[in-house]
Amino acid sequence: MDLRQTTNSHPISSYSDQIGILTSISKPSVSGYIERSSYGNDLLRSLPANVFDRLEPHLRRITVTREQFLFHQDDVLDCVYFPEKAIVSDLHLLEDGRMVEVAMTGREGAVGIASLFYKDPVPNCVQVMQAGTVLRVESKRLRELTRAFPELPKLLYASLRRYIRQISQKAVCNLYHSIEARFCTWLLMVNDRSDRDVLRLTHEQIARTLGVYRPSVTCIALELKKRELIDYSRGGITIIDRIGIEENACGCYAELQN
Ligand SMILES: [Zn+2]
Repeated sequence: MDLRQTTNSHPISSYSDQIGILTSISKPSVSGYIERSSYGNDLLRSLPANVFDRLEPHLRRITVTREQFLFHQDDVLDCVYFPEKAIVSDLHLLEDGRMVEVAMTGREGAVGIASLFYKDPVPNCVQVMQAGTVLRVESKRLRELTRAFPELPKLLYASLRRYIRQISQKAVCNLYHSIEARFCTWLLMVNDRSDRDVLRLTHEQIARTLGVYRPSVTCIALELKKRELIDYSRGGITIIDRIGIEENACGCYAELQN
């Protein structure tokens, strides 16, 4: 089954019941500030009011579930996705079926920006790591706006640069840093993008994301739990001692904060 077919799409203007926060969206104001503040994506909220006002009618809010694919490796994209409460992973699929995460994106950015510049098949798939909402816009609409508003491409380029930087850092991280340090860095990155105390993650999911065997993740999680840095159950993982997790993370976490 193509999981993308299960996506629930809602024009923002008619959206009401499924997600409570949208019931409070106000009518357009002169400044556009109220509308932007009702959206959960920082990149969209940073747009100038006149740009946002032109973009807003083309945004569709979709509810995505954990492990759902937004798109698959080798797809040709025609949409850009701006996560709100959802967090998504860029995963590269290997020939033997294993997948390794090369980047993660939450409310700070967008995925699919490259579709504004070319129509080649994408090198990675994007899977939902944490369920929530995502705002989707057709690439052609966004491309039209980049021609009309020169400030828009600058903001999108900045997001693309952060994305490329994360991929570069991941390449180094996967090669040189211990699994425990990578685990802690990754957990902090998820935590930063989430508004929940309990991160809905399984050891299997973490192992797949880090490209390691599940028993390795289970051993590390158990050790971190014994040291009272995290707690976990079937419901997910909670960071109890954030400073302790930061001390055990590799330098990549701090690098990506700058
Ligand atoms: Zn690292």
